[in-house]
Amino acid sequence: MQDCIFCAIAKGLIPSSSVYETPSLYAFLDLNPANKGHTLIIPKAHYSNLLDADPQLGNELIDAMQRVARAIITVTGAEGFNVIQNNGRAAGQEVDHLHWHIIPRFANDGLTLWKQHSYDSQEEMNRLATAIRVQVMH
Ligand code: 5GP
Ligand code: ZN
Repeated sequence: MQDCIFCAIAKGLIPSSSVYETPSLYAFLDLNPANKGHTLIIPKAHYSNLLDADPQLGNELIDAMQRVARAIITVTGAEGFNVIQNNGRAAGQEVDHLHWHIIPRFANDGLTLWKQHSYDSQEEMNRLATAIRVQVMH
């Protein structure tokens, strides 16, 4: 897509620190890492977010995530990693080209992901689960 920074990176028009590539995917270091080694995996084709994506990417993507995450762990000594994928401004998406963050994690590295809440009642939880279950089948 025109003017998309990650399309330009995938095509090599803008320089990036490449770590891995497959026929459909490209992986490179995030310019502003949450921890050093923070990597982005993008489809070479433009999808604005997960809802647009071709489900056929699945196998290649999981394989790429495993390879990249294992390499990051070996190189950085990370004790764990997060896979994060933001959809929409409200979810923190800044670049509208689908991407997965692979973030190396270390004990006590100070990163916090989110604050968790609770439901008002079991009934509220059941109602919500039912509404989503019905909608999924639409
Ligand atoms: P989002 O908030 O959309 O999930 O994440 C976008 C990520 O892309 C951010 O973590 C940001 O640091 C990274 N980023 C934005 N522009 C560039 C760039 O030109 N090069 C690289 N390597 N990373 C970028
Ligand atoms: Zn794009």
